[in-house]
Amino acid sequence: SKSRSRSEQLYSEALQHIVGGVNSPSRSFKAVGGGAPVFMNRAQGAHFWDVDDNRYIDYLAAYGPIITGHAHPHVTEAIVRAAQNGTLYGTPTELEIRMAQMLKEAIPSMDKVRFVNSGTEAVMTTIRVARAYTGRNKIIKFAGCYHGHSDLVLVAAGSGPSTLGIPDSAGIPSSIAHEVITVPFNDLDGLKEALDRWGGEVAAVMVEPIVGNFGMVMPQPGFLEGLCTLARQAGALVIYDEVITGFRFHYGSAQTYGAFPDHSAIEPDLTALGKIIGGGLPIGAYGGRKQIMEQVAPLGPAYQAGTMAGNPASIAAGIACLEVLSEPGVYERMDALAVRLTDGLRTAAERSGVPVTINRIRGSFSVHFCDHPVTNYEEAQLTDSEQFASFFRQMLDLGVCLAPSKYEAWFLTTAHTDADIDETIAAAEQAFAA
Ligand code: PMP
Repeated sequence: SKSRSRSEQLYSEALQHIVGGVNSPSRSFKAVGGGAPVFMNRAQGAHFWDVDDNRYIDYLAAYGPIITGHAHPHVTEAIVRAAQNGTLYGTPTELEIRMAQMLKEAIPSMDKVRFVNSGTEAVMTTIRVARAYTGRNKIIKFAGCYHGHSDLVLVAAGSGPSTLGIPDSAGIPSSIAHEVITVPFNDLDGLKEALDRWGGEVAAVMVEPIVGNFGMVMPQPGFLEGLCTLARQAGALVIYDEVITGFRFHYGSAQTYGAFPDHSAIEPDLTALGKIIGGGLPIGAYGGRKQIMEQVAPLGPAYQAGTMAGNPASIAAGIACLEVLSEPGVYERMDALAVRLTDGLRTAAERSGVPVTINRIRGSFSVHFCDHPVTNYEEAQLTDSEQFASFFRQMLDLGVCLAPSKYEAWFLTTAHTDADIDETIAAAEQAFAA
């Protein structure tokens, strides 16, 4: 097993100064048995090197944004150029318009766009806009979907039938939690029940149209169509959180993805984006139908602002990233690698008698330690956490970096090669056997 003594040393130092030693709780190893997380030192393409100079193949992709691999030359050049021209103006810039046009072309439901700094901000603002537009306060969300850390959407983890107002975090007033209704994903009956009961008060139904936060989970056929129909019958808006799914599976988002037969039947009113569209720099964006977006200041009464919003560096990196992704064959290549990798993982697991369910959507997939399908949060919760933790640690020791949570996906990037896949399958054979 690799020595990670320098990571351990830095972790004990970090604990003295940074709460929990990490700047996002998802980076801690709490869910995989604790101890020092790996401190990475540099990254190039599909690979990481830690502070002890161990090399890892990266499937974390920084929780999604790094789809072109680390330090992609085209993205790096855009960032360097932006830095040389000044990173923050506090004025409009031309590239913001170009990037807004790119997003609109790829996701036509977004008539008007606004850039912010994170997925959290983008989602938070879509809710404010929906409330301003409808004059209603409640939102419906789906159990296990993560929408950032704003108060309203941290009310989440209800399982079973629709639940009202159980916060996942301290510090959220019950008055806010009571504005949120949680329904199981893929459960149209549950949604109907919630809308029958609270429909007149619901501003929006918010969903990850393809889930990325309890594994990769497709909506069952008809789920998004039904969701849109039921929401609109109740006079509520539909908000898609495409922070993970934007530009993930093809040059577009879940709402324009080829797996869905009728795009007009699943079009949301508002969309939140983040991650990939910043090319590795901080970004978020939201947009939607013109008359709804015109609720936003300075045109309308819903306020949203940002000192860093639409900053030239993030916008330049985002445009460069989208340019790489718009090249022909890019998504097909990630898809093919993911097919080969998941076939190899499945075979290795079978050979060792470890039951796994693998949910793959193009170049992203999740490996669940269970023998049942994973179609909602409850089923994801029932998977084997101990086996995942053990697999995670084995893989890390064999030079494969995954997210330290059984709920997170593996992400292929444009930088992964057949050699990386072979190495990963060989590691997985050992890890499953162990
Ligand atoms: N929505 C979804 C679907 C996400 O996965 C995330 C982050 N994992 C967010 C929102 C929040 O984005 P950020 O971390 O950029 O605030």
